[in-house]
Amino acid sequence: MPLYEYELTEGDCAVCGGKFTLCRPLSAPPLTKCPACKKPVRKVWSSFNSPKTVSFSDAKKAGFTVLKRLGKGEYERQ
Ligand SMILES: [Zn+2]
Repeated sequence: MPLYEYELTEGDCAVCGGKFTLCRPLSAPPLTKCPACKKPVRKVWSSFNSPKTVSFSDAKKAGFTVLKRLGKGEYERQ
């Protein structure tokens, strides 16, 4: 099962520490609440924040659209 990282979108949690990882089957519905404290969470796409492990070309190969910022509010499809 893939491992997903989540963080609370608001508040703090003594149970999960505000950030936690969960093993979930691909077929599982998206997790919206911490199973421990029931506060809203969002999935953390940690791999996209670390270009050392995922390059833009890898992202493109995986089918993602890579946008280059041209200026204020302008983006170009790569
Ligand atoms: Zn929690």
